[in-house]
Amino acid sequence: MRKLEEVLRDWEAVIGLEIHAELTTLNTKMFCGCKLEFGAAPNTHTCPVCLGLPGALPVPNRAAIESIVLAGLATNCDIEKHSMFYRKNYMYPDMAKNFQTTQGPVAFCMRGHLDLDVDGPAAGERIDLDGVAVGESRGNVTRTEDGYVAHVGITRIHMEEDAGKMVHLGGGEGRIAGATHSLVDYNRAGTPLIELVTEPDLRTPEEARLFMQKLRQIYLAIGISDCSMEEGSLRCDGNVSLRRRGTTGLGTKTELKNMNSFKNLHDGLAYEICRQAEVLEEGGVIYQETRHWDPSAKRTIVMRVKETADDYRLFPEPDLAPYDLTDEFIEGVRAKLPELPHEKAARYAEAYGLSAYDARHLVEHRATAAFFDEAMAQAAGDAARLAKPLANLVINDATGYVNTHDGSDGAPSGFDGVFARLTPARALELVGLVAEDAISSKQAKEVFAAVIADDADPAAIVEARGMRQVSDTGAIEAVVDEVLAANPDKVEQYRGGKTGLIGFFVGQCMKAMKGQGNPKVINELLEQKLG
Ligand SMILES: [Zn+2]
Repeated sequence: MRKLEEVLRDWEAVIGLEIHAELTTLNTKMFCGCKLEFGAAPNTHTCPVCLGLPGALPVPNRAAIESIVLAGLATNCDIEKHSMFYRKNYMYPDMAKNFQTTQGPVAFCMRGHLDLDVDGPAAGERIDLDGVAVGESRGNVTRTEDGYVAHVGITRIHMEEDAGKMVHLGGGEGRIAGATHSLVDYNRAGTPLIELVTEPDLRTPEEARLFMQKLRQIYLAIGISDCSMEEGSLRCDGNVSLRRRGTTGLGTKTELKNMNSFKNLHDGLAYEICRQAEVLEEGGVIYQETRHWDPSAKRTIVMRVKETADDYRLFPEPDLAPYDLTDEFIEGVRAKLPELPHEKAARYAEAYGLSAYDARHLVEHRATAAFFDEAMAQAAGDAARLAKPLANLVINDATGYVNTHDGSDGAPSGFDGVFARLTPARALELVGLVAEDAISSKQAKEVFAAVIADDADPAAIVEARGMRQVSDTGAIEAVVDEVLAANPDKVEQYRGGKTGLIGFFVGQCMKAMKGQGNPKVINELLEQKLG
């Protein structure tokens, strides 16, 4: 198979995503009062409604509908005031009702969009932007200084409910093939889900990954789901087809499943694009089918030939009245909309002059953004001056620490663990010490590590370890004179043009001062005396 970058030169990929999120922050199921609890004993959270017993009547969960409307408002959707519930019929033991209650052609949220900032290496997968000037648009894409912005349409966000969980016993690895019997747990049956469907506006696996990342950040910010891709509360399927560059028709698409991480989403789509190109280039045909991404084998495998919507016999749910949302309800939800991650990033850039890169990394996690906000509030008048070093501390040191410590050694782990010790006040104290030249930025790394390990204040650590940087010109000058006097040959070479020797002199001075000399002052004095 050819490489993705080569394939994309000849073929344009047309990608759409379907993203399911479990509304894990709710207390009860979609149409009954059963508790939502992960890991409870099997079949302990069930009732006549979620078991589909005759005569049981469903009642929509108002809090769930609020979550869906919140998701719609956060993704620029129109909120449809009048919608209906439908039955999607299928017979399988994981759904005792023999149908799933869902929404029909008109969902609560329609016609939204997200704008993706694609830059750096991620922008490299778009090879059709040659000749497009900065600020100019082609299709749904607008060129920027270091990449482009892609406008990605959202068709709809609708409500669904989850099925129960099946466990197959007696076969290999819990698979149904070869199993002697199967168990079913209906605790999950009726869990509220939302499904977001994008327009086929994505053109590269990177764009698909960025869309998923941005949506996950938004869902976390509005607090509707824990969005755990490992535990399956956020799941993504992708539709992909190819067409020759320069043509506008749509090819036959395949649906990809099991892309339960950002890497799998990217790699699964990349593989499928290359596979389809190979089939088409050899004169073959793409079948509309569902394929499973196998990350260990690094290939996609056919699961089944795609059902069409008709197979489900979708029809209006007779037990649920059409649902009307009032203006009052919608405005009430809108009032709960928090500042979204991309809005926060824009504010950081605007208010503190941070780069787009720094701002974006600060809002990548709720914890880092909340920490930064709190520290900036405490910094008050110094906020603008300390914003950049504080952003560096959070993005490089704190995030770096979290990525390399899993807590198995008893040390703090996760952002909660780090920020319980590196409080906003301590973070400001630390960057303040560097700003006033009391310690070097290299020493600051040591102090950061000590703050986390010892749960102590930066100033106290600097004092206890005698780390205070020497900036006193007189003291440094004496050392500089000694070093120059001890190396007359090197001084001569420097004056003869080997200016690279400055590093040697700085090193000697630092060594004499046990690393505590202010490098800036040392450099200045050396250049003065050698010049
Ligand atoms: Zn129930």
